[in-house]
Amino acid sequence: MITILRIGHRPERDKRITTHVCLVARAFGADRILVDLADRELESTFNSVNERFGEGASIETGVKWRRIIGEWKGIIAHLTMYGMELDEAVAAIKDKDGDDNNNVLVIVGAEKVPGEVYKAADFNISVGNQPHSEVAALAMFLDRYHDGNAMKELKGKMKIIPSNKGKVVVEE
Ligand code: SAM
Repeated sequence: MITILRIGHRPERDKRITTHVCLVARAFGADRILVDLADRELESTFNSVNERFGEGASIETGVKWRRIIGEWKGIIAHLTMYGMELDEAVAAIKDKDGDDNNNVLVIVGAEKVPGEVYKAADFNISVGNQPHSEVAALAMFLDRYHDGNAMKELKGKMKIIPSNKGKVVVEE
């Protein structure tokens, strides 16, 4: 079970990026998404994708992130450019996974992440030591965690058929 916790979301500023974090989480094999600030528009956009393209992860916004971290039973991973190397971290998480029922909380930030998150994390993980994007970091983490097979086959009302030219969409 993989839960993504997005902290520091500012609806007016991070609207598209947080939506992308959620869509990447859904498409790349996460089970649950939690966002700190309440954002009904984000929930509705996300749920509409689930409805049309297949039920992937669930979403909840307006969560108390300190409580979630404090009460977490399982592994806490925090994506940050200051962390340990990705492959080393994924291997260590998988080693530990068995003891924690594969219950992994993956934290991604937006603005500056408070020091307490670094302290609470079992693993602070960097996807390269350059600043880039939470969307890219999350996609790479999930793909490595799923051994390169992160992309989920979801069954929905609409199915996109891979095609070199033109859009091929089957509606049920
Ligand atoms: N300046 C902020 C800070 O000091 O915490 C981070 C801003 S960054 C655009 C937003 C998020 O992207 C970070 O909280 C982290 O989750 C993710 N991120 C950015 N670069 C990363 C990297 N190289 N490895 C892992 N995560 C990264």
